[in-house]
Amino acid sequence: MRDSRETLTTNAFVTGYPIKHSRSPVIHGYWLKTMGIAGSYRAHAVEPENFAEFMRLLRNGESGYIGGNVTIPHKESAYRFSDCKTEIAEELGAANTLWLEDGKIHATNTDGEGFLANLDDQAAGWDNTARAGKAAVVLGAGGAARAVIQALRNRGFSEIRVVNRTLVRAEEMRHRFGERVTAHPMEALQEVMRDAGLFVNTTSLGMDGEPAPAIDFGRLVHGAVVTDIVYVPLITPILAQAQTQGRRVVDGLGMLLHQAVPGFEKWFGKRPVVDATLRKLVIDDMETHG
Ligand code: NAP
Repeated sequence: MRDSRETLTTNAFVTGYPIKHSRSPVIHGYWLKTMGIAGSYRAHAVEPENFAEFMRLLRNGESGYIGGNVTIPHKESAYRFSDCKTEIAEELGAANTLWLEDGKIHATNTDGEGFLANLDDQAAGWDNTARAGKAAVVLGAGGAARAVIQALRNRGFSEIRVVNRTLVRAEEMRHRFGERVTAHPMEALQEVMRDAGLFVNTTSLGMDGEPAPAIDFGRLVHGAVVTDIVYVPLITPILAQAQTQGRRVVDGLGMLLHQAVPGFEKWFGKRPVVDATLRKLVIDDMETHG
């Protein structure tokens, strides 16, 4: 039998279904090793019909985990089956980070924090446009877009223009996040760029051999930043267009790295740092394992 104190304090997981493409074990494994922490972080595939049982075992300490990350398709179930939720998770209705405390499962969502930290890190001053009262444009209205829109609203953008193929999903963002969010159909994409200070792609447009729409970033304000949360490839077709047009671009890999920081700190007690070595390690892993 394993020592229950050890298992409750040092083992964490990432769960999803499937889970084998997750880069999270590489990220947390790097931090555990370089920070000299005797812990583990494992990928744990859980089929949707078994997720409730996974949460039950986590809650009563039988799984041996102190907490972990949750990814597709369990983010909403993780939120639902948790006992205590942060305000951020409450508003999103989805959780990506869980931890045990006093026999209860706590849940939060760190995607928005990772998104902001990546921009702060790679494009210092990117949010000056928010302070100057400029709008942000978000392409897409899926699960990840929710976290991005919430983060931009909380950072102070006066208007967040959400453009989506399915308009009703963009409208749902307005209902969820309030009247600073406006909803637009794809045909309005060029128009809504006018005077915006930030453009974020959260869709898979242009990936998997699909053609990327031609986007003219000329209407954005001077100094505006263009970012994509998709990070395979690092320079997506949308970022490539923005680069060609002379815009400052930020790739999405840093969001993945930074969203991992708060969870690691919760489980293992020390705040890790996102550095160039980690970034290279994850890029190498993507090149090797696809
Ligand atoms: P999702 O919930 O399935 O949403 C997908 C979004 O893309 C929807 O807005 C969808 O529009 C749009 N879309 C898909 N195909 C399209 C097409 N051909 N034309 C126009 N719009 C299209 O997915 P998600 O969870 O938000 O994830 C989106 C991407 O973000 C994924 O590639 C994921 O890997 C990435 N991501 C990155 C990070 C990071 O840390 N960097 C974190 C989370 C997610 P409809 O509503 O019209 O279907």
